[in-house]
Amino acid sequence: MSNPLSSLEVIALTKKHNYGTWRKQKNWNPSHLLSADGCYFTDGDGKRFLDFSSQLMCMNLGHNNPAVIQSIQDQASTLAYAAPFYATTARAELSKLLLDVLPPGMTKFFFTTSGTDANEAAFKIARMYTGKTKIISRYRSYHGSTSSSIAATGDPRRWPIEPSGKGHGVIFSPEVNCYKCPIRHTYPQCGIACADYLEHMIANEGDVAAVLVEPVVGTNGVLIPPPEYFPKLRKICDDHGVLLIADEVMSGWGRTGKWFAIDNWGVQPDILTTAKGITSAYVPLGLCATTQKIADFFEENYFAHGHTYEAHPMTLAPAIATIHKMQRLGLIDRANEMGAYLGEKLHALKASHPSIGNVRGLGLFWAVELVKDQQAKRPFNTWQEKLDGKPILVEQIAARMLSKGVVMQAWMSHFVLAPPLIVEKAQIDEAVAALDEALILADALLE
Ligand code: PLP
Repeated sequence: MSNPLSSLEVIALTKKHNYGTWRKQKNWNPSHLLSADGCYFTDGDGKRFLDFSSQLMCMNLGHNNPAVIQSIQDQASTLAYAAPFYATTARAELSKLLLDVLPPGMTKFFFTTSGTDANEAAFKIARMYTGKTKIISRYRSYHGSTSSSIAATGDPRRWPIEPSGKGHGVIFSPEVNCYKCPIRHTYPQCGIACADYLEHMIANEGDVAAVLVEPVVGTNGVLIPPPEYFPKLRKICDDHGVLLIADEVMSGWGRTGKWFAIDNWGVQPDILTTAKGITSAYVPLGLCATTQKIADFFEENYFAHGHTYEAHPMTLAPAIATIHKMQRLGLIDRANEMGAYLGEKLHALKASHPSIGNVRGLGLFWAVELVKDQQAKRPFNTWQEKLDGKPILVEQIAARMLSKGVVMQAWMSHFVLAPPLIVEKAQIDEAVAALDEALILADALLE
């Protein structure tokens, strides 16, 4: 047997032969992630890190869960693969279980292998069902990296591929952001003008198949709409014969203190997409769920979609184990309880750091947004600087936290705090203390 690779060799080979995502390649300096357990992972030098972003906001059960691991082993030794036109036990059991946890009305499922291709399925289904083309998305959004899903992504990650993204029939509406409203209104006096604006868009665009939303916007800053927003949007969609697609790839699976973020407002989407937490990211699984009304349409109309790995048994079995585990551990309640504790600590942090403009969150999904000045709420960096690979302040702060053993996602002007739902109070204390210390970098740069 050959000698195991050293950490330096692992890093060098990875970097030399793999693309690092969303960056200039020269700016990719991966660390060697060796093993993980619960809320922690260990690197090749044996250093332990508190994972306060659940990797990519996906390991909701934490690392190394025995029940999920066992489900993968059991499925591998029973039926490792079945072509998607077969019925399998895992497929039937998961479908039954999903009826209990998805928002009411979601009854028909298409299983994929990522959030991106769950959204691709959603766009195609919406277009086939309505016979219309356009999809209204929002500027501060992320919906995936393939041609259609990046074209539906509002944040500037679409800029470098914009020419190929054009023609995908996506138009963008302003995000719903009551801290910094893009249409310069103030809640509640606004009367939810952002929804009115969207209705104006639907009426004037014509040919709109669907409105696509992250019910709580994820990477782009944990943006939470006011209580009236979703009921109003649902009515607008119904009045205009437009479908409502809820992208719950990041916000689903207990992250916001409900099974799905849209449950916070009791609104039913027509199509719901999800991935990440569905298996706690132990295996790649995505889901596009629709109402029975949409399902009925395809009884008589050709369902023109499919993948070799659709409903792959190895991805479905761990989803069943994940849902059972979440139910047994009461993780939805725990997300609320620990989320309230985290929120309290973050609001206290804001009081002592003038660089914090806003703290917001639901469940165990929080953002801390930094501003150069409280009045104008100006950010420290621009998107162009990020795309050009220039140093971004939040990334420098994250690097300082990393040196103290805490991992937190830094994105443009904010941090997203999304620990595994099994997080303990002491771990919350540790993460907030690291942020507290590292924020001196931002406070020192205030204007
Ligand atoms: N939609 C949202 C809201 C996401 O946050 C993501 C990924 O972060 C995606 C879609 C794409 O999912 P994936 O990376 O699994 O393709």
